[in-house]
Amino acid sequence: MRVTLLGTGDTTGTPTVGCDCATCERARELDVERSRFSVHVRNDRTGESLLIDCSPDFRHQFLTQEVPLPDAALVTHIHFDHLDGLGNAYRLFDDLPVHATNVVDPATDESVAGTIRRKYDYLDRVSVAAHTPHEPFRVCGLDVRFVPVDHPPLLCYGVVLEDPETGAKCSLTGDTSFGIPDDSRAALADPDLLLADAIVPASSCEHHPQGGKHRNDAGVPRTFGSKHMTREGALDLAAELDADRTRLVHLAHYYPAGEAFAEPLAVDGETYDL
Ligand SMILES: [Zn+2]
Ligand SMILES: [Zn+2]
Ligand SMILES: [Zn+2]
Repeated sequence: MRVTLLGTGDTTGTPTVGCDCATCERARELDVERSRFSVHVRNDRTGESLLIDCSPDFRHQFLTQEVPLPDAALVTHIHFDHLDGLGNAYRLFDDLPVHATNVVDPATDESVAGTIRRKYDYLDRVSVAAHTPHEPFRVCGLDVRFVPVDHPPLLCYGVVLEDPETGAKCSLTGDTSFGIPDDSRAALADPDLLLADAIVPASSCEHHPQGGKHRNDAGVPRTFGSKHMTREGALDLAAELDADRTRLVHLAHYYPAGEAFAEPLAVDGETYDL
């Protein structure tokens, strides 16, 4: 499978509109971008493509990256930066199956699949398939599983993608704190490529009203506030999961400019062949 990182930024992206911070300025100088989160996965055996999350930057991403339109999509959770690009499906597709989970979220009284059905009922070319977490299903010739992660107050899911022919495996943490349940960690383990939420460095926790948590033995917070992993948390998770390669994604412009473009922080347009 060929994995293309269409969007590697957080909800405001980098550069952030109207921002002249050193990190946004540096991104403009380097001519790199971190648009809102989305990943394109092409199955080279079948020629089919799967989109993971529907970024509000969908149009820009598909105009600037050399990837075909997807045959199907997955949605990890209902935050704006992961779902609201689905409106771009209007008039582009004859048929677009969208896969999401079926667990009713107490915070919304709806499952992720239910919210998508309700919000996009005007898109008659879009069909929504609801899945039970941890139960594999096949789409675009790949075996896919949603695994629960920790992104309060909403339900959110990581994604495990495996090619049943080649054994290639890509794991995505989704938006999550370091508090990922053990059975989800087991499902995400041993990937060829791990894409891990690392919104800010641990040093940023002092600026969060809730600080940080899930501290490691050295006292470094692996969770920023309650919703996302720090860089340090994401790297600890990558080590625990024994990932062959790791790219940090869902990155905010709050990284200091000197750290924001260092390895293994991703930028838009990176591709990986697994
Ligand atoms: Zn900025
Ligand atoms: Zn989110
Ligand atoms: Zn997000």
